[in-house]
Amino acid sequence: MDTHLNLIDGEWRPSGAAATFPDVNPADTRDVVGLLQDSGPADVEAAVQAAAKALPAWSQTPAPVRGRHLLKAAQEVEKRTAELADLLAREEGKTIGEAKGEVTRAVRILEYFAGEGSRLSGDVIPSERERIFMFTVRQPVGVVALVTPWNFPIAIPCWKLAPALVCGNTVVLKPASQAPLTALKLVEILQATGLPKGVLNLVTGSGAKVGAPLVAHPKVRAISFTGSDVTGRGIAETAAKRLAKVQLEMGGKNPTLVLKDADLDNAVECTLNSAFYSTGQRCTATSRAIVEKAVLGEFLDRLVAKTKAMKIGDPRDPQTQMGPAIDAGQLETTLRYLEQGKQDGAKLVYGGERLQDGAYAHGHFVRPAIMTGVEPASKLAQEEVFGPLLAVMQADDFDHAVKVANEVRFGLSASICTKDLTRALEYVNKAEAGLIMVNLPSAGIEYQIPFGGLKDSSAGPREQGPAAVQFYTETKTVYVKY
Ligand code: NAD
Repeated sequence: MDTHLNLIDGEWRPSGAAATFPDVNPADTRDVVGLLQDSGPADVEAAVQAAAKALPAWSQTPAPVRGRHLLKAAQEVEKRTAELADLLAREEGKTIGEAKGEVTRAVRILEYFAGEGSRLSGDVIPSERERIFMFTVRQPVGVVALVTPWNFPIAIPCWKLAPALVCGNTVVLKPASQAPLTALKLVEILQATGLPKGVLNLVTGSGAKVGAPLVAHPKVRAISFTGSDVTGRGIAETAAKRLAKVQLEMGGKNPTLVLKDADLDNAVECTLNSAFYSTGQRCTATSRAIVEKAVLGEFLDRLVAKTKAMKIGDPRDPQTQMGPAIDAGQLETTLRYLEQGKQDGAKLVYGGERLQDGAYAHGHFVRPAIMTGVEPASKLAQEEVFGPLLAVMQADDFDHAVKVANEVRFGLSASICTKDLTRALEYVNKAEAGLIMVNLPSAGIEYQIPFGGLKDSSAGPREQGPAAVQFYTETKTVYVKY
């Protein structure tokens, strides 16, 4: 089994404490995918100092030249899609098809931001006065810290690293400890494009020993974080003390609204996909289906039949449709919310059993679960589960469905299934969410359009697409008298 090192100042180094932690396959916990550095504050200090030292030269490197590193990395990631997807499925537990899709997304993100190097433009603004020329230029922010979760182990590091680097920042990346190796491979590939030493640094380890000192470091000028809202709020408080920039992408409690005129087959497909694919572990996953009462019975029958037919098992088997939970803690959380739902009067209509026999014996497997009669104010209807547990709720009509959908503190993604264009556009207007999907699953996003939520789901400038440069650059305003 391989031991993987941190990347600091262009060198692959062990952590100062010389300790490691295992990266475990959630489908078979006997399979240790690799050993990673269990780093601490001294490693963070070295990485931030290296990034600070590399900043002047990298920030002055022409942006199109910076972009070419991303293009080379895109080509290499694409060449190694099969290998990286297998590693991703093995350490994270999503199906091999989803893993291939995620690696391909990383390729597209790298290609897109490679081109951004030639488009990092400012504006020319007319002056009130004669013979005054006014314009803006974009400049890098400085040393940036990127803190990522485990559920998209290549796409999320990639959609932060690519814009950060092309905009001329230097970076310290801290991936999540449950699935750090795919991110490490991405860093290896980027470094091998000939990035100057110190431009890109990687430090693995826990949130407490690596994440916390990294986001608190006075030389870190901006922090892009994706993860739970509890961690995100703590980071925002730390950053506020020194006025560092923050971008937070956090949890969701995303609804799928099914109106009585919807194409029910499509509505069932959208719900199944966004509730149970990736084991429900997507920030944009549907965890509430809010269905008009006229079609609730029919919708439920079809959804239960489709869910029963899902193949659960080894994510690297191409036939599998749902893999394991990431770890024992996440599995327990799903089961706890299921029990809570029962206590609050909801009815389990399908699934929810832990799978522990035969091929499931060494993994964190659970059958996808559907509960009905869930009260809108109950914990199951209000809190993020991050597992394959769907709350189905009845709506009297469209207005009631919208009210229930909006009555949560999160606002990431929301889907509506209807053939009525007026209703769909009314929902686009009224939905308290940053992403609205019409006749599509609530999960499943593209890289070239802004991504982010409202309310407790996000804070700071949007990620991805042209919006990404707003976070990774500062605007300088120039006045010239001629
Ligand atoms: P988490 O908050 O536990 O961890 C995220 C990252 O933060 C990890 O790298 C972790 O080590 C680090 N961290 C933990 N404590 C820290 C601290 N005190 N200081 C700095 N860093 C710290 O989240 P998770 O369990 O890895 O991910 C699941 C959560 O992520 C869910 O809530 C999910 O909705 C959310 N998520 C959101 C999006 C989005 O774009 N909105 C995308 C994916 C996941």
